[in-house]
Amino acid sequence: MTTNGTLVALDKVTRLYRMGDVEVQALRQVSTTIQEGEFVAVMGSSGSGKSTLMNILGCLDRPTSGRYLLWERDVSRLGRADLAEIRNQTLGFVFQNFNLLARTSALENVELPLIYGGLASRKRHRRATEALQRVGLGDRMDHHPNQLSGGQQQRVAIARAIVSDPRLILADEPTGNLDSRTTAEIMGLFAELNQAKMTIVLVTHEVDVAAYASRILWMKDGQVVLDQPHTPSTPLVLSHPDGDQDPGRPEPPSPPDRSTDGSIASLAAQQAHT
Ligand code: ADP
Ligand code: MG
Repeated sequence: MTTNGTLVALDKVTRLYRMGDVEVQALRQVSTTIQEGEFVAVMGSSGSGKSTLMNILGCLDRPTSGRYLLWERDVSRLGRADLAEIRNQTLGFVFQNFNLLARTSALENVELPLIYGGLASRKRHRRATEALQRVGLGDRMDHHPNQLSGGQQQRVAIARAIVSDPRLILADEPTGNLDSRTTAEIMGLFAELNQAKMTIVLVTHEVDVAAYASRILWMKDGQVVLDQPHTPSTPLVLSHPDGDQDPGRPEPPSPPDRSTDGSIASLAAQQAHT
């Protein structure tokens, strides 16, 4: 397989939800690419399509129309079993609520994807141990989730996400349930993984969290209305996505609020009220 460094290529991806007679266009013709090694933060107000985008990127859902190439493979029309296999071998997931099995040790939680992947027990043990050591939990491997702090549980979830050495990590608001100190620790961990060449796409409402990323996508009404590079760990100030469009792009469905100063902080404040 040749590689030009493009990990994700979305071509006019649309996702339509039908609820009775009502149609919701959760994604409208989203076209973008993500290169290996990128750290992308996806922002935008509630209902703008962030989770729908993540579900498609994560092969948990398929586009209604359009094409999704993941690592040069067209995954837009694959069936459940193929998608599950791609998820298991190519992707790692981190969720806001950690999604750990409660009655199961940290080590066993991290081993789980390897069991589905069919790896022998001794190898599973070794790789899960290494992943937990990598996230700083080498001394907590026998603990159950309820014996761990929120930050530690998210570390276990990150270990589980990286244990199969995925091409892409997808994290939907991974710091949404964490205090600011723990958020900084977890984001430091994501930054380390990215420095080790891991590609990461992360949804967040928080400017401080997005500031760890090397690229910001801002979504509105199912479209990416801003796509801007960023130097990780420097303050994040973006021009207003709706006021800063390429001339060739269509007008967004609703006009921006001109009363704001156009910084990403004001965008975040705006979205907190939607
Ligand atoms: P975000 O994650 O940015 O808050 P979502 O991707 O969850 O936004 O939702 C985008 C739009 O699609 C919203 O209008 C939402 O109500 C709608 N939507 C999401 N999931 C479903 C679903 N399973 N069925 C119907 N509509 C949905
Ligand atoms: Mg969401």
